[in-house]
Amino acid sequence: MQTNLRETDANLDAAHLVGQLADMRANVLLMGMGGITAYYPSQIEFHSASPYLPADRDMFGDVLQAAHAKGIRVVGRFDFSKTSQAAFAAHPEWFFRKANGDPVIYNGLYSTCINGPYYREQALKILSEALDKYPVDGLFFNMFGNQSRDYSGNDVGLCHCAVCRRKYAQMFHKEIPDTPDDDYRKFMFIASREVAASFGDLIHQKRPRAGYFNYVQESTDGIMSESNTAVERPLPLWPYSASDNVNRALNSEPGKMPVNLCMQFVDYWWRFATVSRDEVALRLWENVANGGALAFEVNGTLDQQDRQAVEAAKPVFRWLAQNEQYYSGERSAARVLLLTGPSSTGQTYSQRSYRGLFRLLTEEHIPFAVSSNMRWLGKRDFDLVIAADWAPPELRAYAENGGRVLVVSPREPQFPVAQVVHKWPDRKGYFRIRDRSLFPSLRDTDLLMLDGPYTELSDDAAAPLTLIPPSMIGPPEKVHVDWKDTQQPGIVFRPAGKGTIAWIPWDLGALYYRESLPAHAGLFRDVVDRLYPARQLRTNAHPLVEMTWMQQGDRKLLHLINLSGHSQTGYFAPLPMAGIRIRLAGRFKQATSVRMPGDLPVHVEGGYSTFTLPRLTDYELIVVN
Ligand SMILES: [Zn+2]
Repeated sequence: MQTNLRETDANLDAAHLVGQLADMRANVLLMGMGGITAYYPSQIEFHSASPYLPADRDMFGDVLQAAHAKGIRVVGRFDFSKTSQAAFAAHPEWFFRKANGDPVIYNGLYSTCINGPYYREQALKILSEALDKYPVDGLFFNMFGNQSRDYSGNDVGLCHCAVCRRKYAQMFHKEIPDTPDDDYRKFMFIASREVAASFGDLIHQKRPRAGYFNYVQESTDGIMSESNTAVERPLPLWPYSASDNVNRALNSEPGKMPVNLCMQFVDYWWRFATVSRDEVALRLWENVANGGALAFEVNGTLDQQDRQAVEAAKPVFRWLAQNEQYYSGERSAARVLLLTGPSSTGQTYSQRSYRGLFRLLTEEHIPFAVSSNMRWLGKRDFDLVIAADWAPPELRAYAENGGRVLVVSPREPQFPVAQVVHKWPDRKGYFRIRDRSLFPSLRDTDLLMLDGPYTELSDDAAAPLTLIPPSMIGPPEKVHVDWKDTQQPGIVFRPAGKGTIAWIPWDLGALYYRESLPAHAGLFRDVVDRLYPARQLRTNAHPLVEMTWMQQGDRKLLHLINLSGHSQTGYFAPLPMAGIRIRLAGRFKQATSVRMPGDLPVHVEGGYSTFTLPRLTDYELIVVN
């Protein structure tokens, strides 16, 4: 539970807050500690306590003591991205400078630079004092890296302070650009990871049992992310936000705890207006169904003026506390890997392509692990690797050793698959189905829509799917009367050593994300079935039932989340569903539903176990032994 305190909360009643946490059965408090505002008396110069903290009061210390007395752990929150005018007057070299040399000032606070001595020296003094003084269970850091936009959305550009200019010139032999390019993103990546490492070293040295959390993956013990909303964000909403964040964190850095905060507010302007109760509950179930922490955030204290989100979170927290034995140490048991581009390379990857594939896999009930980390391959078995927009050379070796790889992207793989003839940035045409036996899902169509980039491969008379390039679209008398079939493939299958590589050289994921056409889903289903016929899970469940297949010690956990309450910009209570048949690969003896307690009779035949869940409301957990 995170309380994002305001400076006016500095005199809060520790017993009251801890009582509220205990009542909702939260077992970790993430709370404001220092940085911009300290919630305890600090002796470090320019580390000012809140003006609302009485001179004789140590609020953070009081909360820490009260929480520990009730077995609740405390993670302190720091934000070093801004500090006071007094610090700026004394140490101008600590601060972010716009291209014209001006500081960035927001509500009286001056932005610091991650390359400057504030982050590199002063912050370590502040943290040393805090760690010496308080037996915290962890520290969390907000805003790690120079933000080029303030909270109001104003662009402040890139930092041109003396340190940034010197370091950038040393590294890239040029001046800092006006807008971030690949080199600049790499520069900021290195800076944030250097600081992350120095904070981590200090925490681990002074409090070896304390956890270290921030939004970066390196040097930390937990990977933080957020499920949040913003009013100007382009539609559609992303109802799998929490699943996406947690699945990716858990399977990119398997040793670390994913902590995906459910942000209760609508946008920065309305921190005290909450999103729908059902959206809050959905994110919380998604967090734990994917192996992450149950994590929820409020601005201010738990005494909210809009109580809907807290009231929605409470029963979920309490239910999970009663059943906590199922929710620690979960690992993905999925045999399909969805590979997404690494965040560290500075390259941009298509979020739409990735999300389209994420939806296709989820709606098909194919359990999958998301990873941006190639170190996975070879350490854990997968039956199929799907590359969304990024197909690194390691995939070739993986296939040659018997792996099955599906590349879904107009971006050419970083290893040879087929001869590229031309890269079309935008093709508005069709694909014609040539080999019907390969696409049983598409019996009612001969054509698939293509819109967007297409990488033309050398002609193949035997291609199962071939391009029909753009032709006349009007008036009706003229529609496509001039169209011509080609032998340009819409998909290629290639043997690679002991394995197989299939490449769909157009943006099936992005098209599905945008248009949700059943024909594209059918193509995807049939290609997956050809590469990977022995799926782990088959079910008659509605596509809006998300299922995750997890391992916990010797047992398996099947989580079902009902997303049927989501439509357009709304999240409503999900429609109850009945009679969900589940067939799992493997011979299991027992299936027990936990939320609506029941033993589900298991029928074993061949290598498969079948059972039926009689009813699904919002969420169900089935323990399979
Ligand atoms: Zn700087």
